[in-house]
Amino acid sequence: MAKYVYDFTEGNRNLKDLLGGKGANLAEMTNLGLPVPPGFTITSEACRHYLAEGSTPGGLEQEVAEHLDALEGRMGRKLGQAGDPLLVSVRSGAKFSMPGMMETVLNIGLNDESVHGLAKQAGGNERFAWDSYRRLIQMFGKTVLGIDGDLFERALDAVKGRRNDTDLDAGELQRLVETYKGIVREQTGDDFPADPREQMRLAVRAVFDSWNAPRAILYRRQERIPADLGTAVNIMAMVFGNYGDDSGTGVAFTRDPGSGRQGVYGDYLQNAQGEDVVAGIRNTIPLQELERIDKHSYDELLAIMETLENHYRDLCDIEFTIERGKLWMLQTRVGKRTAAAAFCIATQLVDQGLITLDEAVTRVTGDQLAQLMFPRFDADADRKKIGKGMNASPGAAVGRAVFCSERAVELSEQGEDAILVRRETNPDDLAGMIAARGILTSRGGKTSHAAVVARGMGKTCVCGAEELEVSTEERRFTAPGGVVVSEGDLISIDGTTGEVFLGEVPVVDSAVVDYFEGAEPDDELVRAVDRIMRHADAARRLGVRANADTPDDAARARRFGAQGIGLCRTEHMFLGERRRLVEDLVLATADDERQAALNALEPLQKADFVAIFQAIDGDPVTIRLIDPPLHEFLPDIVDLSVEVATSSDVTDKDRRLLAAVKRLHEQNPMLGLRGVRLGLVIPGLFAMQVRAIAQAAKEVPGARPEIMIPLVAAVQELESVREEAVRILAEAGVEALVGTMIEVPRAALTAARIAEAAEFFSFGTNDLTQMSWGFSRDDVEASFFSRYLDLGIFGVSPFETLDREGVGRLIEIAVEEGRATRPGLHLGICGEHGGDPDSVHFCHEVGLDYVSCSPFRIPVARLEAGRAALKDTDSDTR
Ligand code: ADP
Ligand code: MG
Ligand code: MG
Repeated sequence: MAKYVYDFTEGNRNLKDLLGGKGANLAEMTNLGLPVPPGFTITSEACRHYLAEGSTPGGLEQEVAEHLDALEGRMGRKLGQAGDPLLVSVRSGAKFSMPGMMETVLNIGLNDESVHGLAKQAGGNERFAWDSYRRLIQMFGKTVLGIDGDLFERALDAVKGRRNDTDLDAGELQRLVETYKGIVREQTGDDFPADPREQMRLAVRAVFDSWNAPRAILYRRQERIPADLGTAVNIMAMVFGNYGDDSGTGVAFTRDPGSGRQGVYGDYLQNAQGEDVVAGIRNTIPLQELERIDKHSYDELLAIMETLENHYRDLCDIEFTIERGKLWMLQTRVGKRTAAAAFCIATQLVDQGLITLDEAVTRVTGDQLAQLMFPRFDADADRKKIGKGMNASPGAAVGRAVFCSERAVELSEQGEDAILVRRETNPDDLAGMIAARGILTSRGGKTSHAAVVARGMGKTCVCGAEELEVSTEERRFTAPGGVVVSEGDLISIDGTTGEVFLGEVPVVDSAVVDYFEGAEPDDELVRAVDRIMRHADAARRLGVRANADTPDDAARARRFGAQGIGLCRTEHMFLGERRRLVEDLVLATADDERQAALNALEPLQKADFVAIFQAIDGDPVTIRLIDPPLHEFLPDIVDLSVEVATSSDVTDKDRRLLAAVKRLHEQNPMLGLRGVRLGLVIPGLFAMQVRAIAQAAKEVPGARPEIMIPLVAAVQELESVREEAVRILAEAGVEALVGTMIEVPRAALTAARIAEAAEFFSFGTNDLTQMSWGFSRDDVEASFFSRYLDLGIFGVSPFETLDREGVGRLIEIAVEEGRATRPGLHLGICGEHGGDPDSVHFCHEVGLDYVSCSPFRIPVARLEAGRAALKDTDSDTR
């Protein structure tokens, strides 16, 4: 029979799936012999059953009753018994920590009789007993009975006046209990449930239900926590921090989650219970002061913190309570930390001999590294913080507040930086979002329109800064403390922390970027990054190349550790002055006219390639022949039509150009005349590019070009282009691989054939994603992606993280079938996914040879490739 309840002595920290993080770690601490109040955990499996079926699984009530009996036996008290009651807490706890998202009820077991028993237990401390009782009704009323918590708060405030809650005496608290009971009766039509077991049963259900509370759903979506995990429920004997000044409750970290430094970091509140510390109802004191108040407990706490660090081999955060001089541990978990602290802590733990360097690499993430690479606000500068929202898209942006899209565009046209401030954004704001330096909203979460679009554009964004009152009509917002920011005022927003500042905060370059650029590591963080990067490089199997089209990018990519260029686009070689030559090419009616245009382009392109070969200094360069439709290089159809229709000096060329633009106009350019199709339709175009590459390669000793044909769907397309390329290369006496992009689903599906004519594949996952899903990125990201994210159709945009199920499947097929045809087939990826952590792991898993990404993402890809390789060995050894 299924087991749904585990005593704390039965579990351990590896059972998070079943017992949730809180339950698993309470069990772990219990087994370590630490002072944890006894209790038991109802599994998340029971919750999943309850949520699916609407009723608890058979046998659960019985099992809970048995564990409760055992708990009562151990404590020598019975739940809620009048004379000498046992009280318990009922606490939620899912696999992943969701701070404050779900429910916990303390002091279960109190009623009009047992409250007297509790006072007796406490040596006649009536005040304490009534304080506990009023807390129960308040918490239970709010979380289990669904009553508006403000009703209780207001009743409390009415009694309290300007005093602290600790100043209320027993009589006042007893009257407050009566008032609270009245609120319950009024709001639910029923009396507050006096039966302790009924209280417990209802609280367990409320915890189960809280899994699907709107805020929990929202949080899960933001943090990408699966929706179907459910939560475990912990039932544990109460210990009391609200006995008086010899008692209290606190939270602590085993080291500073901001910097990683070891020390005593925490807050303590005397004469308080549970959530008082984080709720901020009274001012807490720094944990250090506990030494003065209760040295014995303080020393014990520090010793336990050390035990936990050594045991978990990582930073832990903890919750504890002191009951009349006796310390109790109520929670621990491996604590959250900032990106900088993550790197420092990982290497500190290596130095302490707690973890290996292999493990250190797996303890940090590419996202954390990316955060460290953004320019940031100078922390030492004078800054006035006026609000905080969600850190939706990282970066540090300074600009003038504007409240509509049009103003943002106007300002940017005047060369001024704007921060677009909105309650929330919608697709109509797109132009303004593009023009602005940063985006600030007062509503919406990390999957709101503003957040999704900003991340897609790589633009700094803070969203959901709820304390800000945004008035679009009056073109201003108000911050707490009466600060008013009007249109045109300077503000600074930090997309990495979510902070909003008044005025201009100075920005400094990231020291981590300076390091990648070649500066010597000279502080703890950079030294930590250096050590971890070196080890990741040594461990990784995947190569890392750059998407780079210019000598500058190529040189930077090299400094950042790229082992060549995986995608060198050639379209920029047709822009600027050279547009005229493209026009000639398009207008050519005879072979010799066309050839003349191509001949004029060839030396220009050759010079471009020479510069890139020089910059990359002997590493391979994968050059993609021209990909976009030619009309992208021609004048806009509307502009040109207007000009031809209205201007007095229209030339014959203008008329012919208009005709050509009309002829080339496409309804759906993404699926039109582009890529290999251009090479097949415009004689000499690809040949010119290949010749320019070959001539450039001859000129730069050690150059290693690879020629890549885009948008191939059928081997026949590739064959004829390849034949011509091979011939030109042979004539020039240059060796180069000739391969293709795999970016059309048909190419992936016919990879066995395509590999006959390709020496390498490079997965163009931007197009492959568009064509697999059948949507064009430019059209869909702003218009309905946030809706799709809300609906859970995908947890993250498939343009951000490779869609393993669909696009990934196509890649798997192509890898397998391509290599079956040509065992040495060289395989890479050159879509933006090449720099996305999860996608890099996918590329490692399917056996690609390298990933290619934008220069700034190269360190991220190197780190994640190392982590992917170490994860393989990890699972064998531990
Ligand atoms: P959250 O997950 O929101 O932190 P918890 O379940 O940890 O919620 O509980 C909220 C507060 O109540 C915490 O401060 C916790 O330490 C305290 N608490 C929970 N159970 C007990 C207990 N049995 N005795 C005393 N305090 C408790
Ligand atoms: Mg907690
Ligand atoms: Mg493409």
